[in-house]
Amino acid sequence: MASSLTVAVASGKGGTGKTTVSANLARAAAEAGHDVFYLDCDVEEPNGHLFLKPYLGRRYPVHIPVPFIDMEKCISCGACGEICQYSAIVCINKHVLTFEKMCHGCGGCALVCPTGAISEKGREIGVVEEGRAGRIAFLHGKLNVGEAMSPPLIKEVRSAGRHGTLNIIDAPPGTSCPVIAAVKGAGFVLLVTEPTPFGLNDLGLAVEMVRTLGIPHGVVVNRHDSENSLARDFCRAKGLKILAEIPDDRRVAEAYSRGDLAFSSVPGYRERFFALLDAVEKEA
Ligand code: SF4
Ligand code: SF4
Repeated sequence: MASSLTVAVASGKGGTGKTTVSANLARAAAEAGHDVFYLDCDVEEPNGHLFLKPYLGRRYPVHIPVPFIDMEKCISCGACGEICQYSAIVCINKHVLTFEKMCHGCGGCALVCPTGAISEKGREIGVVEEGRAGRIAFLHGKLNVGEAMSPPLIKEVRSAGRHGTLNIIDAPPGTSCPVIAAVKGAGFVLLVTEPTPFGLNDLGLAVEMVRTLGIPHGVVVNRHDSENSLARDFCRAKGLKILAEIPDDRRVAEAYSRGDLAFSSVPGYRERFFALLDAVEKEA
């Protein structure tokens, strides 16, 4: 494995087994002797900790800058409302109103204000928790309930990735801004899918995303059934390489429901995840 590599584990939709792959791969890499950093960017629903069971010794809030208006300096020119692409600030009847939850913290309104009436204050969007699970360094973001602004928190988690380490990123599901914030800059993306029409439709969207970003990628088929060739046919048609097929195995589902890793608790799965690690190493 390259001394510094960031592998993002993503999927076009939720519930495909992305965290199962991320957490088992992290454990396999640690047992193979790599320095591993697990970065859980699925900040709306981080659950890697349920499987890796880290000791979390550090916790800190993450804020984004939002405008604070000094009305004594405001001349009601309306420039702030005109520049804002998100309608997060408006000037109506000589009053400036801000809608903090819609603000992306770009700082544009403060830049255009002719009187310096706009300064910035922090708005908390979530927390980061950091710790260790044996040989695995661990960090995850937890978005506040009802919060829509996840990319800044994801970027905060991503920025913790280290040189000289195998950084494994558990990305949010989907193909929108939060996923792009999580996978951008990764050296390799593992796309996890399931062999169903819905799963493969969303895999197609995820493939378009990583191809647009220019990131090397491979596929993991979860809940593979040897009599179902949908995923193989799809990948062949799209020129995608399947790096692992994880069987539709009741023992894996039972381990998942207990919060156990299949790598550690289901016979035969150590070898499967070591093989996936080898495949990623060769492809990346
Ligand atoms: S910081 Fe940017 S997004 Fe927020 S209110 Fe100002 S212009 Fe709008
Ligand atoms: S740009 Fe500044 S001066 Fe103009 S309305 Fe907004 S806060 Fe007031």
